[in-house]
Amino acid sequence: MKRNLLILILALSVCFALQACRDDNIDEQIKSNIESNYLPKNNENSANDLYYADYNEETEYIPASDKEFNGIVAIPYGFTYSGYSFNNDRYYFSATKNVNTNSSSFTVDMLNYIDLLTGEQHYICPDPLCLHSAPEECKYIELANNCFFTDNNVFYTFRQDITKNQSLMYLSFSMYKADLNKGIVENIYKCKDSASKNHLFLKALRGSDLYFQEYTRNETSESAKMMKESIVLSVYNTDSGKVRIINDFPEEYVDKSANLFYADEDNLYFISLTDIFTTDLSLENERLVYKLKENENFGSCYYDKETEELFFNVFNAKEKRGCMYVYANGVLDELDMPSENIYCFQLTKSTIYYSEYAPLFYGISSMGGEVYDYSGGKIYAANRNNRKESELIYDGGKDFIIANDSIRYIIIGDYLYFDYLKIENTGGTVDPIYSGCKIRINPKENTIKYLKFE
Ligand SMILES: [Zn+2]
Repeated sequence: MKRNLLILILALSVCFALQACRDDNIDEQIKSNIESNYLPKNNENSANDLYYADYNEETEYIPASDKEFNGIVAIPYGFTYSGYSFNNDRYYFSATKNVNTNSSSFTVDMLNYIDLLTGEQHYICPDPLCLHSAPEECKYIELANNCFFTDNNVFYTFRQDITKNQSLMYLSFSMYKADLNKGIVENIYKCKDSASKNHLFLKALRGSDLYFQEYTRNETSESAKMMKESIVLSVYNTDSGKVRIINDFPEEYVDKSANLFYADEDNLYFISLTDIFTTDLSLENERLVYKLKENENFGSCYYDKETEELFFNVFNAKEKRGCMYVYANGVLDELDMPSENIYCFQLTKSTIYYSEYAPLFYGISSMGGEVYDYSGGKIYAANRNNRKESELIYDGGKDFIIANDSIRYIIIGDYLYFDYLKIENTGGTVDPIYSGCKIRINPKENTIKYLKFE
């Protein structure tokens, strides 16, 4: 329930729809190009069987590290695309855990990490006997993957808590500091109103200033749909523990779903449904970085703190055109890449991994929507400083969905990670079901591992 609510809130207020402007004709074209009798081979018979394609099960893990991600800020986007973070050679993300009790079964979200040195996965809750099933039992439960690390194993995030006010119970958003070394999870800021009216998201860390956007739905009309949202940009200072308000978002920022994604010494960086822009630290003196043209969407977006470069890509599905840009010192340049059809990419210190816009159609879902992997099941790697050539490092075809509206892959060391969408194929419809598992593939060794969170 909470997860659904969170996704709904994300959809309503935070993110921008990658596919919002996709033309229906494109889908028709894609469909006419595919074999009409295709049925996915995954899990046709048993819902519980894990699908291994032609991979061997991983028996040995090759140690990796997070040094390729030092100073690289990944900007999450999309309705349900889950965020992640790195700290102390750990890859942090959130996974859905099934909880079965005598009387009910439900799911909770738990923050986990993969120790990149050993390849093992752990919940952030270190108690081996904890079932992580209820807030009374587990203080780490439901912490969001919106994590900002200030020290090794110390981070700030938020969650929704059940608040009791006399006889009323409601959900409300709070900001938390979690110190995994000391085993402390501390509430540091609480939204005043219930989650349906008042929520927050953490956005950027600049020194000891943690920027967050707080959303309030104002009752300007009797109809809930007509409620107007206001957004206040504030800073929580991690040294003093004090909150100060920076400014209200101008109405146009609210209308275009502007989101702060990075703050450097002098500037705030925003991405919206229509553009990327910067302002000064008081939210004034706006400067445009990029304005989307007709049929264009933003793909991926990263900031490299060390080189002070902003990387992003823009793609036009109609014309099968997608290019990358780099913005530094107030200057925007198109990046020479081996492809002119880039759908999404991942930036590391040495490499740009990317996929072209090559939708693979899986079928029609039981809800009537079309199911795609937009990456074509392929990932290329180009040297970040010498981008003339690229290497095809993964070609999985329709083995797995690795990039669509809700999931994105990530490459760490020799490994490809993505959320496992189990394909359920019944009565001619095809439904990708989020399973709570993450898959790790080593394309060189042709191995696979299911990282299950139980
Ligand atoms: Zn626990």
